[in-house]
Amino acid sequence: MRRMREFGTTVFATMTKLAVETGSINLGQGFPDTDGPERMLERAAEAVRGGLNQYPPGPGLPELCQAVAEHRKQWYGLSYDPDGEILVTVGATEAIAAAVLALCEPGDEVIVFEPYYDSYAAAVALAGAVRRAVTLRVDAGRFTFDPAELKAAVTPRTRAILVNSPHNPTGTVFTRGELECVARVCREHDLVAVTDEVYEHLAFDGVEHVPLATLPGMRERTIMISSAGKTFSVTGWKTGWVCAPAPLTGAVRTVKQFLTYTASAPWQAATAYALREEMDWVEAQRVSLQAKRDRLIAGLEEAGFGVLRPAGTYFVQTDIRPLGFTDGLDLARRLPELAGVVAIPTQVFYDHPDRGRHFLRFAFCKRDEVIDEAVTRLRRLS
Ligand code: PMP
Ligand code: GLN
Repeated sequence: MRRMREFGTTVFATMTKLAVETGSINLGQGFPDTDGPERMLERAAEAVRGGLNQYPPGPGLPELCQAVAEHRKQWYGLSYDPDGEILVTVGATEAIAAAVLALCEPGDEVIVFEPYYDSYAAAVALAGAVRRAVTLRVDAGRFTFDPAELKAAVTPRTRAILVNSPHNPTGTVFTRGELECVARVCREHDLVAVTDEVYEHLAFDGVEHVPLATLPGMRERTIMISSAGKTFSVTGWKTGWVCAPAPLTGAVRTVKQFLTYTASAPWQAATAYALREEMDWVEAQRVSLQAKRDRLIAGLEEAGFGVLRPAGTYFVQTDIRPLGFTDGLDLARRLPELAGVVAIPTQVFYDHPDRGRHFLRFAFCKRDEVIDEAVTRLRRLS
């Protein structure tokens, strides 16, 4: 299919396979190596044993829609009607694809910030739309964008902006000022914002995650997306949700109906429970992840990498040039043999790979002993 010609196997599958084949430590694909809250896991098992095994309602189990609405209200002061403004999806990935497919006619344009999460490019391509990448560049130790570049990326065909904060793969958490800049462009050009907030509870050092929908004039034009995977350390559950005004949710639901119709029932019940009862666990997990971030950063610095300290997510970006390397893709392929570790070459997330050639992404959502062993191995590089 011509539309999908540039997409082969995702970098995450490729690099995880490489880790398995070579027996390397996998600091590539972002998934935790410990499980989510015990009681939540029990709830899922109880749901299966209790007979929640047939199709749940297409828009989602009412109790999950209700729990998502309560969560949005409690954390962000945002009101969404669980009956019509919330849609449960098969992870954030389906939500993103369904949103883009719902919004775009062939030839429409979608603005993304590069480096971008890989499914964005594929979702835009599936819609026959065109992506316009605005580059995040390092300034004062964090990745940010030039507002003029964002404005210049808008054309008469622009339909939407895809915004991911906390941002994978850079670890940037957009400031209120940066988000206000995005909001202004959306308002001025009547664009829809699709926000990917799967790391909403993983911001560190007191940095606040600000949902774009909370800014003036944005709730009505934002499709807000999140999922259970990162918040509750259950990336295999693939349970996500969309919150948006009824006409936008309805449009996404129409697409979603024919992609998957509905999402798995038992995980929905357990996620509803966790959103209501396990937010203390989430906070403890955030604190633990911040310590893991610091542990990995210290080790990577000792090993000779240039490190860009992330304010959120599971990931740290490194500059490989201080170690004498110049090409992250080449190093990522050789890293299992050189050090017995797998990482992700950041350049694959760019439309302008040159701009990310010297970065390598490492995941720190791993047990301390795994991080320590990886760091010991990476010291072989210098
Ligand atoms: N967006 C971003 C930025 C991600 O890192 C991921 C990976 N978890 C996803 C979306 C996909 O989330 P899900 O597993 O809920 O589909
Ligand atoms: N979100 C995870 C990451 O960035 C992986 C998701 C996937 O495997 N598609 O590593």
